[in-house]
Amino acid sequence: MDRVPDCFRITAVKCSGETELEAAIKKRNAEIADPRNKMTAMVIILTALFVVLIVVLAVISIGGHEKYASLAISQQIRDRTIQPKRGSIYDRNMNVLAESAACWTVTLSPIEVKQSKYDIIASTLSEILEVDYNYIYDKFNENSYYSVVKRKVDEPVIKRIKSFIDQEGISGVYFEEDSKRYYPNGSMAAHLLGFTGTDNYGLAGVEAYYNGYLSGTAGRLITAENARSFEMYYDNRIEYSAKEGYSLVLSVDKVAQYYLESALENAVREHNVQNGATGIIMDVNTGEIIAMATKGQGGNYDPNSPFTLIDQRDIDALSIMTNEQEAAKYYSNAQVRQWTNKAVSDLYEPGSVFKVITASMALETHAATLEDTYYCARAHKVTDEVTMYCAITAHGWETFSECLVNSCNPGFIQIGQQVGRARFYSYFKGFGFADTTGIDLPGEARSIYYTDEQMAIVELASVSYGQSNSITPIQMITAFSAVINGGYLVKPHVVNQIIDSEGNTVESFGNPVKRQVISKETSDTVRSILCEIINPQNSAYVAGYRMGGKSGTAEKLSEQAEAPDGQRTFIASFCVFAPADNPQYALLVMLDEARSYTIFGTSLVGPVCAKIMSDVLPYLGIDPVFSEDEMARTDVGVPSLSGSLVSVAFSELQKRGLAYEVIGDGTNVTLTTPQTGFAVPRGSVVYLYTDPEPIERFVMVPDVKGESVESAISILKKAGLNIRCGGASEGWVVANLQSIQAGEEVAAGTVINVDFIVYSSSD
Ligand SMILES: [Zn+2]
Repeated sequence: MDRVPDCFRITAVKCSGETELEAAIKKRNAEIADPRNKMTAMVIILTALFVVLIVVLAVISIGGHEKYASLAISQQIRDRTIQPKRGSIYDRNMNVLAESAACWTVTLSPIEVKQSKYDIIASTLSEILEVDYNYIYDKFNENSYYSVVKRKVDEPVIKRIKSFIDQEGISGVYFEEDSKRYYPNGSMAAHLLGFTGTDNYGLAGVEAYYNGYLSGTAGRLITAENARSFEMYYDNRIEYSAKEGYSLVLSVDKVAQYYLESALENAVREHNVQNGATGIIMDVNTGEIIAMATKGQGGNYDPNSPFTLIDQRDIDALSIMTNEQEAAKYYSNAQVRQWTNKAVSDLYEPGSVFKVITASMALETHAATLEDTYYCARAHKVTDEVTMYCAITAHGWETFSECLVNSCNPGFIQIGQQVGRARFYSYFKGFGFADTTGIDLPGEARSIYYTDEQMAIVELASVSYGQSNSITPIQMITAFSAVINGGYLVKPHVVNQIIDSEGNTVESFGNPVKRQVISKETSDTVRSILCEIINPQNSAYVAGYRMGGKSGTAEKLSEQAEAPDGQRTFIASFCVFAPADNPQYALLVMLDEARSYTIFGTSLVGPVCAKIMSDVLPYLGIDPVFSEDEMARTDVGVPSLSGSLVSVAFSELQKRGLAYEVIGDGTNVTLTTPQTGFAVPRGSVVYLYTDPEPIERFVMVPDVKGESVESAISILKKAGLNIRCGGASEGWVVANLQSIQAGEEVAAGTVINVDFIVYSSSD
């Protein structure tokens, strides 16, 4: 009874006798008190309440969408990845070659953006971020809380967007911290370093090979946040912090790398190299790569923007392509070409540089001795059907050493026959040519070669002088190093050490010698023959340094060759080392399809090697030792003579081995050319001006192309100029090998650098 609402209760009227009405009321009250009737009442009440609830919900969802949606997301749970900082890459002296800098990803939460702000957000962000207006505007139709607008945005740009957000009271634009790879030296060492993709994953070079070490471990941040992305309570935040990646310390020296690259770039330009050039400087005892570069053929690409094509030939070809598919294919091929590290990924026939290997096998196996003699008539009949030739001339009778010094093909065909195919193949494998070197760089090519069973007499003949087997430049310099370092095959490598963010060593790579291939005795013998080759008449000669080396010129197979005019194409290369008696560094330079005054390795690549070694050796701490003759040609500084009596100036210059010529009638020096402090070769003429207001004498640079050393010196001297001779000491000036071009006007006494080349009778 008690719980029945009043509206259903009929109060009984107390009286003496029960009327009909009273009976009816009693009956009604009894019905109401029945539990079954109580249930009915409850159902009616709940139904009514439910209807009210539905109406309220309908009102909320239709009328108050914006208000309540905002309330709902005010307690979003966000689960974000914390990107780890990628480790840096340093050269051997801890100069930064690659590092990661903070940047941001700009995102939108379209659901949170007020419709009234669509236009201003799209137009402002498209302008600041340089992104299409419609691309941003379309995102507002996405029913989501997260949409990326642009990645890798730098801090100054983020600041502009933040101030826009504050000014306009914008909601729904967010920033996520990320990191961006940065290569402070631009294209330097690009092929070695490689680059990363937008996700910070290494895609080439050491960035790819050591990605697992560099990338670190991502963290997670789980937070409850309100609509403005402010974290709500500290209790609602769970953070698994990211682990920073390890850093790499390379064996590479930035300065040596610079010298190598600039010399290669000049060579590509000067010799019109069609298919790129590569160079490697290696420590012959440890296998450390001191420098490694690829130039030409897009070889200057910048890892900061690796997808931009560099080679003008590619850009031109693409600009006239109309077929989209064809263009896309060309573009991706051109990219691969531009990223190819020729030093490890290109196969080539080494030509005569390989004779160093054949000579080593012959002496090591005692198949030949230094006393053996060989005959070269230029043409050499290998079989009744096959005749092979010496490169330039018939050498006649030669000793074993002369075969190598003269780079005689018939000589080496005979030496190869003495070795025989079984021993040849065994040592070919011993020197590592049948395996990859295992260098810590991606994309090392596998060599293509004849096994002993595949070699008949003709094949044995051609492989003996470096044709027919295709190898990589890194294999060649590694085997060459074994020949001169006492016989040890080392594993070349570019990373010396892996360190953590505090600089502690995580892993270091020592000096992995794989095996001894030849004895120290054989090594010493071959090395001393190689030192005979780099004499003062050789184009690779560097004054003050005793070096050894061997050049090579190999014709490319017809299917490899791409010369449109049907010209025969060649690869010219040169491998040198220093110091002669205790080799430390080897340098291999290879020019792929030079179109120059000659095809031969000695003449083309010798001066390139000389330039690199003359820069690198003193820098690496190997001091020059000049002969008397060389000493006479070394540089001295022009002393400070301004104000001196002419007679005093005379004696100061004489002391330094310099000559002089006076211009003017005064008693004291008022000006000198070359000026004080300039380095000039001994024997140069310094012009002394004595007038109070001297007028400098200018002279025109003459053309010395085609002249010998003596005649070039005399022509320049007559013109009132000084000369610094480079290259071979008995040679000729070819092409544009003078530092200041003919026809230019320069001050009297200016030093002109002139390089001389020997037209060698060997390749
Ligand atoms: Zn010959």
